[in-house]
Amino acid sequence: MPLIEVKNVMKHFPVQKGFLDTLFTRQKEFVKAVDGVSFEIEEGEVFGLAGESGSGKTTMGRLIVRLIDPTAGQILFAGQDIATIRGKQLRLLKRRLQFTFQDPYSSLNPRLTIGNAIADALRLQGIGNKSEQKQRTMKILERVGLSPASSFYDRLPHQLSGGQRQRVVFGRAIILEPKFVVTDEPVAMVDVSVRAQILELMKDLQDEYSLTYLFISHDLATARHICDRIGIMYLGKIVEIADKDRIYTDSLHPYTVSLMAAIPVPDPKAKKGEALPKGEIPSPINPPSGCNFHPRCPRTFERCAEEEPALREVKKEHWVACHLYD
Ligand code: SF4
Repeated sequence: MPLIEVKNVMKHFPVQKGFLDTLFTRQKEFVKAVDGVSFEIEEGEVFGLAGESGSGKTTMGRLIVRLIDPTAGQILFAGQDIATIRGKQLRLLKRRLQFTFQDPYSSLNPRLTIGNAIADALRLQGIGNKSEQKQRTMKILERVGLSPASSFYDRLPHQLSGGQRQRVVFGRAIILEPKFVVTDEPVAMVDVSVRAQILELMKDLQDEYSLTYLFISHDLATARHICDRIGIMYLGKIVEIADKDRIYTDSLHPYTVSLMAAIPVPDPKAKKGEALPKGEIPSPINPPSGCNFHPRCPRTFERCAEEEPALREVKKEHWVACHLYD
C-alpha cells in the first residue's frame, strides 16, 4: 500500500473582493490552485513536484500534511483518510507529517532561540519534561550538523547563516520522528556552495529515520539529484509523472519538454536550452478551456482547446496528460 494517496484533490480559494466589487458582482470567483490532482507516494520514496511558480505545488504539499483542507477529493496516509482524523489522533498525525517552509528565516520566530524553536515542537506535542526536551534538542542539533550543540542552542536565527537556518528547520521537523516530510524549495534560499550539503543532510536523515519525502522545487536539476520520481505541475494539474531519469531523457508532455530544454548546461559547447513557452501562466481564476496549456503549447491543435486530456499511463510507469498520446 502506498504511504500517501492523493485522489482527485482540489483546492479552490475564494477571491477576496473590494466592497464595491462585492456590491455589483454577485458571482463568487475562485483561484483554482489545485484542480483535480491524483498521485501516490511509496514508503521510502522521494517524490518530486516541479513546475513554474504558481503551478500549485506548494498548495499541494500543504494539503498533504493537513495545514489546509481540500475543497474536494481525498488524501490517504497509510490507508487512512486524513480529513476524518480528529482529536488526539489528529495530534499524532501531525507528528507523523511534517512540512519545512521555503524561507527558513521567516518560518523561525526571530525572538526565539534555536534551542527553544526546536524544543517547542516537543512541548506542543507534550513529549518529555523540560530537561528531556533540552537533551533531545541538543542531540538533534548535533545530528543536523550544528555542532557543538551548546554553542548553537542559545543563538537567535539572525546569528546563523542561511544554510545553518535550513539545518534548524530540518532539526525541528525530525525531532518528532515523522514518517513523511514535505520540503518546499529546501535549497532555494541558501548559498550555492552549501546546497549540496543540505541535500546530503536530507539523504542522511532519510536513511536514519526511514523518511519519505515530497520534494517541491522549481529547479529540475536539483530535483533530479535527489528524487526517485517526479511529477510536473502546470496551473493546478499534474501533466506528467515518471521516473526521475525518464522524465529527463524521455519527456513527453510539451510543457515538460520545454522545462527540460531550459535547464542550463555547464558545458559551454553544449547546445543551449530553449526558452520556456512564451507568455505568462494564465490566471488560475479563469484557466483556459480544454488543455489549460494550449495557449502556450507549441504543438497545440484543434481538439486541445475543447477537451481536457486525462492523465494516462502511456508507457510503463510513465503518465502523461496530453492528446498527442491518446
Ligand atoms: Fe499541447 Fe494539446 Fe498536448 Fe495540451 S493536449 S499539451 S495543447 S498538444
